[in-house]
Amino acid sequence: MCGINAGISDEEIAPILLEGLRRVEYRGYDSAGVATVSDGKLEVRKEVGRIDDLESKYRASGMKGRTGISHTRWATHGGVTRANAHPHASCDDLVAVVHNGIIENYLELRERLIKDGHVFKSETDTEVIPHLIEEAIRTGKDPLAATMSAVRELRGQYAIVAMFRDHPEVITGARNDAPLVIGVGEMEMFLASDVLAFISRTDRAVFLDNMEVVELTARGYRVFNTDGVEVEKKPTQLAWELSDLSKLDYAHYTLKEIHEQSVTVERALLQDPGKLESFVRVLRGAESVLLTASGSSYHAAMLLKNRLNRDGIIRCDAVLAGEFEDTAHFVDRGTVVVAFSQSG
Ligand code: GLU
Repeated sequence: MCGINAGISDEEIAPILLEGLRRVEYRGYDSAGVATVSDGKLEVRKEVGRIDDLESKYRASGMKGRTGISHTRWATHGGVTRANAHPHASCDDLVAVVHNGIIENYLELRERLIKDGHVFKSETDTEVIPHLIEEAIRTGKDPLAATMSAVRELRGQYAIVAMFRDHPEVITGARNDAPLVIGVGEMEMFLASDVLAFISRTDRAVFLDNMEVVELTARGYRVFNTDGVEVEKKPTQLAWELSDLSKLDYAHYTLKEIHEQSVTVERALLQDPGKLESFVRVLRGAESVLLTASGSSYHAAMLLKNRLNRDGIIRCDAVLAGEFEDTAHFVDRGTVVVAFSQSG
């Protein structure tokens, strides 16, 4: 699962989106793409390889528009090719979509859409989404209603964002088990898979929950559940400092993190004692503790496991997050599960 950065602004959008997309580069990707809408036309540029390659191509050809979507892909369905890179457009370039995740029922949807006359240009699971949305638009639905009706047909994990040739004033999005966040700016709005993507433009964010659908304009946002009922969502002020989130002059993030260790440890020690005590109370009340984490967070989990077991405080186990499902059946009412987030 890789990066999404989309937005509507009163400035040219493509450079803003690509600048943000670079900040989520650390997640890794195999291809990148961007699409904008202007003068009743949808423009798509995509390349295998780095965002830099994409940027030099789009600069050479120019790309207008204040509404756009962009993506870094980590292929799951279909090879690493230009045709499989996102954004994917529907038959008549009516809709363009970027997607993170996997659509589990894409084969049956694709078969049905092909029978109905849709022509597919890629091997991805993603491409069913713009065709489904286009189908709904053709029945007279507006972008929001069309997105909702497409989402009702999808099974799997996804964060999707769609843009519309005939409605440049709006972007829609939806998520299920993959992150999608609204960035609330001054006269501009964003929809991204990670707050890092828009943090240089705004520090106000609205975190979407599973099976929520959003409609975004340059002036605001509206969030709905898939039954069409509006959900009230307020922006959160992001507390992080911008300097913490950029690479500064370091060659890469790992080097930056290594150099920041003394500060990081100091900060980690500055905890709210009340919160720590209540966490300890929860652990002490448990019959057993199950820790789950990945990467370096898993090392932190093993340290806690050793400490709790060695001192006979409580029975504790640590499992890799990717293998959690195999252990899940041991979780009962007496078990406290502690899940470590990315970067601990
Ligand atoms: N499943 C999609 C693809 O293979 C999206 C992959 C991603 O999350 O980047 O194109």
